[in-house]
Amino acid sequence: MSDDKIGTCVECGSEFLRSKSKMKELCPECAHRLYGYENCKHIFKNGKCVICLWNGNQSDYTKNL
Ligand SMILES: [Zn+2]
Ligand SMILES: [Zn+2]
Repeated sequence: MSDDKIGTCVECGSEFLRSKSKMKELCPECAHRLYGYENCKHIFKNGKCVICLWNGNQSDYTKNL
């Protein structure tokens, strides 16, 4: 498994699958909340989304949007 496929979101700190996000530095959830990009239709299993790998983290900033 190569690491360049998985990024770490600079906003919420969660890992995410780069191919599922429009932004290199943000998970689909944060890209959606901050910039209005299409969000992942998260499906959670074992504490993270099986599609984009987001773990449900929210930064204080995005939580209050
Ligand atoms: Zn994020
Ligand atoms: Zn997801």
